[in-house]
Amino acid sequence: MPQSVNLTFTEGAFVFLVPTALLLAPAALNSGNFAGFVTNFAFYAVFSAIISTALAKIMFAASGMMLASTALGRISEVMSAPVLKITDNPQVPKDNSVEFKDVSFTYAGAEIPALDHVSFKVEPGQTVALVGPSGGGKTTAASLIPRFWDVTSGSVLVGGVDVREADPHVLMDQVAFVFQNNRLFKTSILENVRASRPEASREEVQAALTAAQCDDILEKLPDGMDTVIGTEGTYLSGGEQQRVALARAILKDAPIVVLDEATAFADPENEAMIQKAFATLTKGRTVIMIAHRLSTVVGADKIIVLDGGKVSEEGTHTELVQANGLYARMWKEYNQAVKWRISQVDPTEAVSAKKEVQ
Ligand code: ADP
Ligand code: MG
Repeated sequence: MPQSVNLTFTEGAFVFLVPTALLLAPAALNSGNFAGFVTNFAFYAVFSAIISTALAKIMFAASGMMLASTALGRISEVMSAPVLKITDNPQVPKDNSVEFKDVSFTYAGAEIPALDHVSFKVEPGQTVALVGPSGGGKTTAASLIPRFWDVTSGSVLVGGVDVREADPHVLMDQVAFVFQNNRLFKTSILENVRASRPEASREEVQAALTAAQCDDILEKLPDGMDTVIGTEGTYLSGGEQQRVALARAILKDAPIVVLDEATAFADPENEAMIQKAFATLTKGRTVIMIAHRLSTVVGADKIIVLDGGKVSEEGTHTELVQANGLYARMWKEYNQAVKWRISQVDPTEAVSAKKEVQ
């Protein structure tokens, strides 16, 4: 936008030049110096053309420089990211459990730890939910499992092996992640899903997409799963992107799944489909889920309440409601919010929303 304004002003000099000349011409004729006037006009016409071209060149060069420096900034950010220390003597995880042992973690430059002596264990096949107020440390805890960062102290164990002592490839094969900000690549849906298991066949990708409730997305795209995302107006909504990301995790077929659920979806239909996709993905696996809708965690084997980087409560839904602490308060608030929503929606939806709470 600013560029177009600039261009209008510089290129527009001509627009002012001609009327001004026409205005001044009679005066020049009267004064008998018409030849001088014509020379002046010719000079300004050429001069303004040169100036405006030069200005436009400078402007484009400057915007090119800005793009280049942003790109360089990003490259140096990537290059300066700490390199994962890879162990010389990798241990093989023994089972599909996940354990946090006295884990503390402070982000570089932060004054207070994001996680402060956190311990909990997820047995193979169990579903454990991390809940708590925003900023409590849930996403940070989940990010330590794939070693987006390494702990400041304590240890994160997968199958009884410290993640720093495991072969990164083995670790990656064992754990599937669906993070809130999962981005899709600017390639076909097929390749986006296949990214988690490059040797998968087209049919396997299709099956994963179906399991992730993506069939309706494929139907409306011009080339089905071969449609390239982000081109010619083929953009997916947040909920649709989340489902494709779930298909990617389902295809991976890893025994441990870490889910950071998106905060909210625009429409209830999307939400219902995502819940179905979750159910497929988590069946028979070890699951660590960060859930914002507490209805999803009611059935969890264990709920860990993270508040200010510390485990403030731990137990099943029933135990925590009885304990009458932070979780019980969150549960009350959640139900109030759902009730409010029910009063805002049509009666058919209200029935299903009520079911969700019970
Ligand atoms: P939650 O997922 O429970 O909302 P987070 O794990 O995202 O909480 O955040 C925990 C704390 O760590 C917050 O105080 C947050 O501001 C901080 N934090 C999160 N991500 C970063 C980051 N990349 N750099 C610095 N601080 C961060
Ligand atoms: Mg979070």
